[in-house]
Amino acid sequence: MALTLLASAGTLIPATALAQSAYDAQFTEYPTYSGDDLELLVDDSGTHFRLWSPKAQETRVLLYDNGHTGKAFQTLPMTFDAANGTWTASLPEKLYGKFYTFQIRHDGKWLDETPGVWAKAVGVNGQRAAIIDLAKTNPAGWCCDRGPEVKNFSDVIIYEMHHRDFSVDPSSGIANKGKFLALTEPGTTTPQGLATGIDHLKELGITHVHILPSYDYNSVDEANLQLNQYNWGYDPQNYNAPEGSYSTNPSDPESRVREMKQMVKALHDAGIGVIMDVVYNHTAENDGSNFELTAPGYYHRHWDDGRYSDASGCGNETASDRRQMHDYIVNSVKYWADEYHIDGFRFDLMAIHDTETMNDVAAELKKINPSIFVYGEGWTAGDSPLAIDRRALKENVSAMTDIAVFSDDLRDAVKGHYSNAEDRGFATGKPGNEETVKIGIVAATAHPQVDFSKGNNSKFPYAKSPEMIVNYVSCHDDLTLTDKLRKSMPEASDSLRQAAAKLAQTIVFTSQGTPFMFAGEEVFRDKKGVHNSYKSPDSINAIDWTLKSRNADLFNYYKGLTALRKAHPAFRMTSAEQIARHLVFDKIDSAKQPNLISYSLKDNANGDEWKEIKVILNGADTPQTVNIAKGDWRIVAIDGKISPQADLGAMQGGKTTVAPCSALILARVK
Ligand code: CA
Repeated sequence: MALTLLASAGTLIPATALAQSAYDAQFTEYPTYSGDDLELLVDDSGTHFRLWSPKAQETRVLLYDNGHTGKAFQTLPMTFDAANGTWTASLPEKLYGKFYTFQIRHDGKWLDETPGVWAKAVGVNGQRAAIIDLAKTNPAGWCCDRGPEVKNFSDVIIYEMHHRDFSVDPSSGIANKGKFLALTEPGTTTPQGLATGIDHLKELGITHVHILPSYDYNSVDEANLQLNQYNWGYDPQNYNAPEGSYSTNPSDPESRVREMKQMVKALHDAGIGVIMDVVYNHTAENDGSNFELTAPGYYHRHWDDGRYSDASGCGNETASDRRQMHDYIVNSVKYWADEYHIDGFRFDLMAIHDTETMNDVAAELKKINPSIFVYGEGWTAGDSPLAIDRRALKENVSAMTDIAVFSDDLRDAVKGHYSNAEDRGFATGKPGNEETVKIGIVAATAHPQVDFSKGNNSKFPYAKSPEMIVNYVSCHDDLTLTDKLRKSMPEASDSLRQAAAKLAQTIVFTSQGTPFMFAGEEVFRDKKGVHNSYKSPDSINAIDWTLKSRNADLFNYYKGLTALRKAHPAFRMTSAEQIARHLVFDKIDSAKQPNLISYSLKDNANGDEWKEIKVILNGADTPQTVNIAKGDWRIVAIDGKISPQADLGAMQGGKTTVAPCSALILARVK
């Protein structure tokens, strides 16, 4: 029986391929090229094309007046440079306003036209690349635009959102519904007069918005936007151009570029960073992808029998372990950071990539802006020819530098397993998850009081530093927290479910590592019980902002969580040693008192102004008693209320009762 490894969120991956695929051997002789003039460069001497395609028999450029209709007005043959595998052609004019495609002859036949893999602007539906002057797309003040400075990644508070979810509902009061520009509109409100849009984000207190895929993706027909199509966007088409359906005019190649920059600028002006979800791990199409149409066989992995391997679960996977693909990923994120001032990247199914590529991604981005945060899903969705020890897995995160992974440990332990809707977790009264929650609290770093062998998912302290961990209880995948609570607590009232939501997010926001939340949870947003809503209509996915007044108490609690975390560095320690020294769990026998965790952040942890912070988490549906050291304690959170100023009253310690399904947080100021 083959060795297996728990590499994914519960997916067993057979180690069928500890050695590199023999299929790879054919590519070792390929010359590579990573200059920034790949595919298109316009300068004073004209317009220059350079396509990397080492094994093409012939290549040509087709020039068009229009982004998707009409015949080519000119076809240019290209000249091969065997030293670097590229084909070139030039014209002496600056061809701004025109469009182009490449075509290669492979195995004796001309393949379909492709905009290439480096199109930075495209016509409607991304079939043809556009020649535009990028400098003309910059909004006013762009030269001085900069995202928030991040000293430590544990200072970041992530808000994951889809453009359409966030603004498309009439209750958003936003004019540019479902567009990049939605995030540039100040002063928008719900019918009840509460802030929406960018003002809502400022009010909530998050530091970074994580936007679901916003590069050009395949599924939404940009020429028929009146159909109100919806997709998450995990079906990449052109990696270096923004998605057209989020622009006000997909037929104008400049508009999507300009409007995405306007969005970034508006968020930066509000002090909020922008993180992009990137999906370099696979392409929407197999043989029809731009990768295959420029360099057949090269960019994707295959099994030895020639079949596409499929670690993405979407039909194929890319090959970051090959030099040209490695360079492509590194140069593409650099491009987004340089041209669009992007502040972070979330790598989808990051373990499809090799650790070396991810390390180079982080190192190169750091040179551009040390505040850029890189994190990803440390798992795959299927087996891969890439050797397990090379995969950017959660379990391999300590082999990487400046890369963080999502903690599925905390996620599943707090609310119940993601794949079983009815399953409950620590915050909803199911015993047996205490040690795994503690793994989350210490950000999966080695801690003398945490027994990793009792962990549900991971069995060893896989993170060398809390900056390697992103904590969350829900995201766009799977049920929203609201739906999860409704399905796993079918008899409960929504007010009891909101108590559980508060407890669950209190665990996320007080744990070491970086907290992450899904847009709309702060107003108890649901998706009508649909867990895989990737192409569900707005009626499922749109956030109903009238919930903000109906669930004002919950929203205020979330505001309290962000404010508490921002004001208190004790929740944001920066090293495993600090956590092991300053975070001390109280002895609790989980057999006698299940669903109870109590710990202190001691001795002005990480320079905190508070001498000691006590966090007591009671996930049981009954009150529980803890013994707290005598002293002058001020109350920070109690019975579903929270005050970052610790002005909810005082306690003297001793035997203290914690209400069911709630967090008690106390502070000893000196
Ligand atoms: Ca598109």
